[in-house]
Amino acid sequence: MIFDATKATLPLKLETDLLVVGSGAGGLTVAMTAAEAGIRTLVLEGGGFLTPSEMTQREEQMFPHLFQDSGSRTTVDRGVKLHQGRGVGGSTLHNLNLCKRIPSEIRARWTQQRGLSSLPPERWDALYDEVEKLVRVSTVPRQLWNRHNRLLEDGCAKLGWKGGGLSHNRSGCLGSGFCEVGCSYNAKNNALKVMLPRAISAGAEVLTHCVAVRLLHEGGAVRGITAVAIDPVTRRVLGEVTVTAKRVCLSASATGTAALLLRSGVPDPSGETGQTLRVHPAVIAAGDFDEDVRAWEGVPQTYECTEFLQLDQEHGHRAWVLPAFAHPVGTATMVPGHGATHRALMERYPHLAVFTAMIHDLTPGEVRPDGDLGLSLRYWPDAADRAELSLGLWASAKLLFAAGARRVLVPTRSPKVLLPGDDLEWLKTMPIEKGEIDLVAVHPMSSVPMGDDPKRSPVGSDGRHHHLQNLWIADGSLFPTSIGIPPQLSIYAMGLHVGQHLARG
Ligand SMILES: Cc1cc2nc3c(=O)[nH]c(=O)nc-3n(C[C@H](O)[C@H](O)[C@H](O)COP(=O)(O)OP(=O)(O)OC[C@H]3O[C@@H](n4cnc5c(N)ncnc54)[C@H](O)[C@@H]3O)c2cc1C
Ligand code: SF4
Repeated sequence: MIFDATKATLPLKLETDLLVVGSGAGGLTVAMTAAEAGIRTLVLEGGGFLTPSEMTQREEQMFPHLFQDSGSRTTVDRGVKLHQGRGVGGSTLHNLNLCKRIPSEIRARWTQQRGLSSLPPERWDALYDEVEKLVRVSTVPRQLWNRHNRLLEDGCAKLGWKGGGLSHNRSGCLGSGFCEVGCSYNAKNNALKVMLPRAISAGAEVLTHCVAVRLLHEGGAVRGITAVAIDPVTRRVLGEVTVTAKRVCLSASATGTAALLLRSGVPDPSGETGQTLRVHPAVIAAGDFDEDVRAWEGVPQTYECTEFLQLDQEHGHRAWVLPAFAHPVGTATMVPGHGATHRALMERYPHLAVFTAMIHDLTPGEVRPDGDLGLSLRYWPDAADRAELSLGLWASAKLLFAAGARRVLVPTRSPKVLLPGDDLEWLKTMPIEKGEIDLVAVHPMSSVPMGDDPKRSPVGSDGRHHHLQNLWIADGSLFPTSIGIPPQLSIYAMGLHVGQHLARG
């Protein structure tokens, strides 16, 4: 059953065997696995519950439902915009469905540096096999590649750069192009469609519009949680919800989980909790083409350029180039300039192709709780990461010109307009300065990194917290470093892994 906390008589006191906080990729997978193993499970979700038929394909209506802070979450200095999901299904409701496994070289480095005794290579492989079957991962058929993605393919072919088609977790996709505002056609094999029904039919319950505030713990063991029911429109606190639980699993994402742990004073002698956030920051460049590109139509991302993504090497390049999806309101917020300049650029909207360079980042960022309900984020890439972003910008501009762009725009405060034949080499070392260029990130992770040694890490590689009994973690927080690839598949895998350990006791 799914209940709405705002409709309950408040204050509300509940009791369960397993309490899961957050219903995204990690949370609903843990809930499904635990409930199917016979564990009485309750999930708390800060956002609401929407069915596909309620996803209206309108940015202004969907962003407040599907995104934290209606899509306006940023670092405290506003240098980086961080898009994260809310609602039953979490960030899997609006994500772009790309699926990849973490390269074995990255996993081997983790084993070497942090042990991860519960995750030997054969365990990872088995988890990925199971998850790929669960969310039905397949290669995106070529007939679903839109012009936008084919331009990236053309650019790679002309430059002789490495690239290829991508895999996704969709079935029955109509290519409507509305993925980022939720799929009205229920074509995404995400946590809402795949894990939620199984969790519910195994007896799990979900309480929506209920934000967890603090873990209740004493004597070195967790006892439950205090939470509040929140009005979805005004964000006003309506009353208190207290849940007593034998076990608690935090799956509130790499930002939410770290903030909860810190707000609750959960011990961590390693000091890592909330201090090692990675986000895969990204920059964009836009190409103006004579032809109609109509980038909003079709499956948003089906082709990748991996010429500068050398994840198999410890010190290789770390920039991944993809087409960037572009709805009108989102585009208008990214397009530089005001008044007539802005309007002139927006009038070219059907002709624009936008490529993004996202990096496998090394810079540690910080998550802190902000009062009872908020959190604050500090993150700005260091010099080495900024150099990869500049390289990614240069690569994006080269690819756009190779694909036939008649000008390329770099959206710095005063936009840089490049013409065919211009020297582009300076872009490789262009300073990435706060306030001068916007960075966007959609993959928060690594804020509560797993490791075998309790002195050096807060949580074990089975998801069990090292310093508070009966506390578990299952979301993107667990990765010891950035992963350089889309994270959802690996977070679903962590949900299965932790859920199976939880079920064993
Ligand atoms: C625009 C966009 C596109 C993306 N595209 C891809 C892609 O193509 N492929 C890919 O692999 N990944 C993609 N991602 C990322 C991917 O969706 C996330 O990495 C993944 O869903 C994170 O899983 P999670 O379980 O850590 O957190 P989430 O899925 O974000 O779930 C966390 C949930 O916890 C809830 N919550 C937080 N705090 C509390 C609290 N205190 N109390 C109660 N509930 C709380 C939130 O409301 C949310 O529902 C994309 C993300 C975005 C934003
Ligand atoms: S492109 Fe496919 S998955 Fe995305 S919203 Fe449209 S039908 Fe759904």
